[in-house]
Amino acid sequence: METEYFTLNPVQEVEQHAPQTTIDLTAHQIWQDCLSIIQGKVSNLNYKTWFEPIIPLKFEQNRFYLQVPSSFFFEWIEEHFYALINDTLSRAAGAEISAQYIISPDEDSSGADTYKQPTLVPVPQTQVEDFSTTTFSSTGVRSFAPKPPIDSGLKPKYTFDQYVTGESNQFANAAALAVANNPGGTSFNPLVVYGGVGLGKTHLIQAIGNQVLQSKKQVRVLYLSSERFTVDFVDAIQKNNISEFSSFYGNVDLLIVDDIQFFTGKEKTQDYFFHIFNALHQQGKQIVLSSDRSPKELKGLNDRLISRFQWGLTTDIQPPDLETRIAILKKKCQAEHVDIPHDILEFIASNVTTNIRELEGCLISLAARASLEQRKIDIELAKDVIRSVIGEFRTHITIEDIQRLVSQQFGIPEDLLRGKTRKQEVVNPRQIAMYLAKELTNSSLKTIGLHFGGRDHSTVIHAYQTVEDNMKMNPKERQVVLSLKGKLESRL
Ligand code: ADP
Ligand code: MG
Repeated sequence: METEYFTLNPVQEVEQHAPQTTIDLTAHQIWQDCLSIIQGKVSNLNYKTWFEPIIPLKFEQNRFYLQVPSSFFFEWIEEHFYALINDTLSRAAGAEISAQYIISPDEDSSGADTYKQPTLVPVPQTQVEDFSTTTFSSTGVRSFAPKPPIDSGLKPKYTFDQYVTGESNQFANAAALAVANNPGGTSFNPLVVYGGVGLGKTHLIQAIGNQVLQSKKQVRVLYLSSERFTVDFVDAIQKNNISEFSSFYGNVDLLIVDDIQFFTGKEKTQDYFFHIFNALHQQGKQIVLSSDRSPKELKGLNDRLISRFQWGLTTDIQPPDLETRIAILKKKCQAEHVDIPHDILEFIASNVTTNIRELEGCLISLAARASLEQRKIDIELAKDVIRSVIGEFRTHITIEDIQRLVSQQFGIPEDLLRGKTRKQEVVNPRQIAMYLAKELTNSSLKTIGLHFGGRDHSTVIHAYQTVEDNMKMNPKERQVVLSLKGKLESRL
C-alpha cells in the first residue's frame, strides 16, 4: 500500500487538508474493522472488486476520506454501497460518519474529476429524458454526465426493416420492437429470445440495438456474445483489470448478450455476469439475451441467474413456415439486388426448411453461380446449389404423397393400403408403397410402419426386401416401381 497519498491534483477542497506523509492510523484501524464487517455482507467477488482497492486516508470531523482508483469506481460504490459504507463506518467509529471520496492521482482523467463530493446536481429537464447521459449521484438523483461513446459491436444490416415476420417469430418480434422503442421502460427486462440455429435470434436482438442507436445516438449500446464476455472477463482477471472491466459494463445502457448457452458450466463468469446484470437492472438499464435453448433447459446455468431471467420476458422463435421462408428469400433478393423468378424461390423455400442461414446461403450461391458460370437461373441450377449447400438434396416427398400415388396407380382406396387386409391385390401395392417410403423419405422404419396401419419396423424391412427381390426377378415389377419413383421425384 502507498504511504504517500497527498499527490492529488490541486483541487480546492483537498487543499484544506494538510498534506500528510503517513497513513492516518486511526483511519486505517477503523477501515480494517469496517472491512471485516463488509466482508460478511457482500459476495467475495464484490468484496475483492469494490472494497479491497479502497485506501483509507484520513478521519476528520465526522468525515472519512477514502481513496478510490477511478471516478467510475466512485460512482459505482456510491450507487451500490452508499448506505453500507456509511453505516459501517459509523458503527466502527461509534459516531455518525459520512464517507468522502478522493480519486486516485493515478487515474488518467481530467482534473475536474479528481475530487468528488456527493452533491445534488440540478438536472436540465431535456437531458433527463435521455437515459444515455445520466448517472446517479450518491443522493440518488439523476445527474448529467456525458460518457464517451463505445463501439456497439452491432452489424448495421440487422434491422427490423430487414426482418421478416410470420407466425414463427411474431411474438418475439413484437417484444423486441417494444423493447427497442422503450429500452428499460417495459416489463420485458431482460428480454430473452431463444430458438434453434439460424432462426434469426442474432438478427432480432441486434435489430433492437440498431433501432435504439438510431433514435438515441448518445445511448451506450453494447452487443457481444457470451463467449466474448467470458474471454474478456478471464483476461481482466489475469491482467488485474477487473475494475476497468466492471466500469465498462456498468456504464452500458443497453446490454445485448448473444448465445448465453456458452455461459453454462462457467461458474465464475456467471457469477460476475450476475452482478453486472443486477447493477444494470437496478438502474433501469435494458438487458437483452439470446440462447439456443430455453433458459430452464440450460444445464449448468446458475439457478439464481435463471431466476433473474424470469424477471422479464422469455420468448421463442420457431422454424418459419413456407410463406415466411419465401418472404425471407424475397427480402434478401431486394437487399442483394438480385432478381430470381418466384418459382425458383418457392422451390428453394420448399426444400430448405429448417434453417434461414442455409436458405440465405442457397440464394447467394445461386446468384454467384449464375453470374460466374453465365448460367440461367433455373430449377436445375437451383437443385445443384441446394445439394451443395445443404449437403444432400431433400426431396420432401411425404409418405402421404406415396400412398396417394400408389393407390391411384393400382386403383385401391388409400385406407385399404393403410389397413390390415392381407388380400394379395392390396399386399403387393402396400409393400411397394413401404419400399418407396424408405427410399424417398427420411422417415424411420418405425414411422413408416405407423403410417401403414401401425405395423412394426420388421414388417417394413420385410416389405422392402420383398420388393427389392421382386424387382430383380421380375422386370415388369421393376418397371412399375421405377415409374412410380420417377413420378414422385418429377413433381419437383
Ligand atoms: P441465429 O442467431 O438464430 O443462429 P441469425 O440471426 O444469425 O440466426 O440468422 C441467420 C441468417 O438468417 C441471418 O443472415 C439473418 O439475417 C437471416 N434471418 C433470420 N431470420 C430472418 C427473418 N425473420 N427475416 C429475415 N432474415 C432473417
Ligand atoms: Mg446467432
